[in-house]
Amino acid sequence: DYQLSDRINAIQPSPTLAVTQKANELRQQGKDVIGLGVGEPDFDTPDFIKEAAIQAIRDGKTKYTAVDGIDELKDAVIKKLERDNNLSYERKEIIVSAGGKHSIFNLLSAWLNPGDEVIIPAPYWVSYPDMTKLVGAEPVIVKAGIDQRFKITPEQLREALTDKTRLMFINSPSNPAGTAYTADELKALAEVLRDYPKVLIATDDMYEHILWSDSAFANFPMVAPDLKDRTVILTGVSKAYAMTGWRIGYAAGPKPIIAAMKKMQSQSTSNPTSISQYAAAAALNGDQSCIDTMVSAFKERHDYLVDALNSIDGVNCVPGDGTFYAFAQVDKLMAKAKVSSDVELCEKLLTEANVALVPGSAFGTDGYCRLSFATSMDVLKEAVKRIKDFSESL
Ligand code: PLP
Repeated sequence: DYQLSDRINAIQPSPTLAVTQKANELRQQGKDVIGLGVGEPDFDTPDFIKEAAIQAIRDGKTKYTAVDGIDELKDAVIKKLERDNNLSYERKEIIVSAGGKHSIFNLLSAWLNPGDEVIIPAPYWVSYPDMTKLVGAEPVIVKAGIDQRFKITPEQLREALTDKTRLMFINSPSNPAGTAYTADELKALAEVLRDYPKVLIATDDMYEHILWSDSAFANFPMVAPDLKDRTVILTGVSKAYAMTGWRIGYAAGPKPIIAAMKKMQSQSTSNPTSISQYAAAAALNGDQSCIDTMVSAFKERHDYLVDALNSIDGVNCVPGDGTFYAFAQVDKLMAKAKVSSDVELCEKLLTEANVALVPGSAFGTDGYCRLSFATSMDVLKEAVKRIKDFSESL
């Protein structure tokens, strides 16, 4: 018997990674399973980015770097924030880490104490509550259903804020919902946050570029400049440039917070991979048309999938603004299938229809399923057919 820490016992393994693993296992057993669980683009990393990494290896850029990232990459990040967001940052306000997830973990470690409260709008990205618990803080979940397109209102935010609130997450466009906050919606939330000066805003902009709505991308420092010194931007190259395996994320925020994140990183992982940093700099500085190619494919699949899902009895899906996820309401399908949870429904869909989806409860929102459309049209069509056949067989 091994007595593990209370800290580790308080958290769950990532449910989205677990679904992908389960689907892979079934496939290895010879089952014809379609996995719609994955959270990464099905495109390859663009060649010019790979070439930059190969060149870095040839040039011997294979040693430790500065803990918080090479200057070339920090400058590329600064340029990106100016170009895309009209925001100005200095090198000391930027830190590069081993993926967006690592940036978030560093921030929570540097900012939160046990007992502090963290506001997490649901549906949320799976890791926010567990990372919050890992550092001893308390997740405060604010739920937004399909009727509000999965976005919280200023009234809900005000109700959730207390004297103990020290951080609020916002993820727009959202994994898993696919919807994005407009500038006006963020301004209304900012109005509430002005009354709570101790609260730091963690804006997870990982899907910034995977967006096709009529409203342009917005985050808090863009729409409420007075909140810039209370905001940390968390993002990275994983999704926009199909670079999930390279493990590069970055954060931009107030100097003392970035310095604290650097201290954390210096005592845990040191610098992110040297070679990947050169690749990420090339991605941010290079021709951005590679993003458009992927986004138009995602949009085409999104349009198909949302319509197709709505044609299935028991499934209800609203169009998203971006990302490569559809978040479908399936409570009626659950009733039809005589199951009492979305987890059971997903199990049934996996074993009886050979389709792997992630249950909404993994994202703090029961009665839904997340479908990733980071896969080909043919695969999507087959998946829809299987779910439809399943529904009709009930
Ligand atoms: N934030 C959100 C909303 C995500 O969906 C993901 C990846 O799934 C991440 C952060 C982390 O990305 P990375 O792979 O760079 O750690």
